[in-house]
Amino acid sequence: MSGRLLVLDISGSRALLARADGAGGLGEVREVANEAHDAAVYWPAVLAAARELGAGAEAVGVSFGGPVDRAGRVVSVHVPGWAGIDVGAGLAEATGCPVRVENDANCGALGEFHHGGWGELHTLVFMTCSTGIGAGIVSGGQLFRGARGLAGEVGHNTVDPQGALCVCGSIGCLEVQASGTAIARRGGEAGAKAVFDRAAAGDDAARQTLAEVFPDFGRGIAAVQHAYDPDLITIGGGVSLAGRALTEPVATEARHWLMRERRDHLRLESAALGLHSQLHGAAALWRND
Ligand SMILES: [Zn+2]
Repeated sequence: MSGRLLVLDISGSRALLARADGAGGLGEVREVANEAHDAAVYWPAVLAAARELGAGAEAVGVSFGGPVDRAGRVVSVHVPGWAGIDVGAGLAEATGCPVRVENDANCGALGEFHHGGWGELHTLVFMTCSTGIGAGIVSGGQLFRGARGLAGEVGHNTVDPQGALCVCGSIGCLEVQASGTAIARRGGEAGAKAVFDRAAAGDDAARQTLAEVFPDFGRGIAAVQHAYDPDLITIGGGVSLAGRALTEPVATEARHWLMRERRDHLRLESAALGLHSQLHGAAALWRND
């Protein structure tokens, strides 16, 4: 399939690229790994792939794994050497197309809202849960950004005042207690998947780790439900691959902390589009154009 859009999902570890038709159709997904962990090598490789795959495209949509300002400029550095790289301008030059850039949590929310097959929704919260935790909120079909474009930092709500020190300077944030990185750390593993796999195999220590993670995660989810009153909260990112082994216990914990009359409102699911929510959202940046 050769859709009219080129879409990219750029994170610190890899970029995914695909053609999209703007109506939910996604072509074959190509990956460019950041093997050198150096933007000076990674970014030209992404541009080269975009130039090749983008031939004949009319527009480019980009999901970027970091803060993006209202003008679509990347405002953070998560890869050595990334500072000063203008993602939008670089891709516009490489492809000859207009480019729209949005952060990955917002793209994930747009992708799940428009192409997740969830049926009629008013408000959806998409939470990325991998290295960190962040959220995108779509309400009435529109992204909710906040006055400075900083809404959705739900990963930095404190869920345990006795918890670990967070990179943001606070203590016991949802992110430092329940992200993929946090689950791996608390379980003494290289990745969260290993903790879930060990727990599924009956390992007591791994089960105990998750029994400590789930209440923290649940308090974070309850705060999100109270704040945004969504029809649906979807969990994306690597941790979401745990599926119901994650969402069911976390929803049970969250209900303990919800206002009694709102407990039935909570609907927590893994992202319908798996690890491609952001690519679909990057295409949705050009909806109605
Ligand atoms: Zn924090």
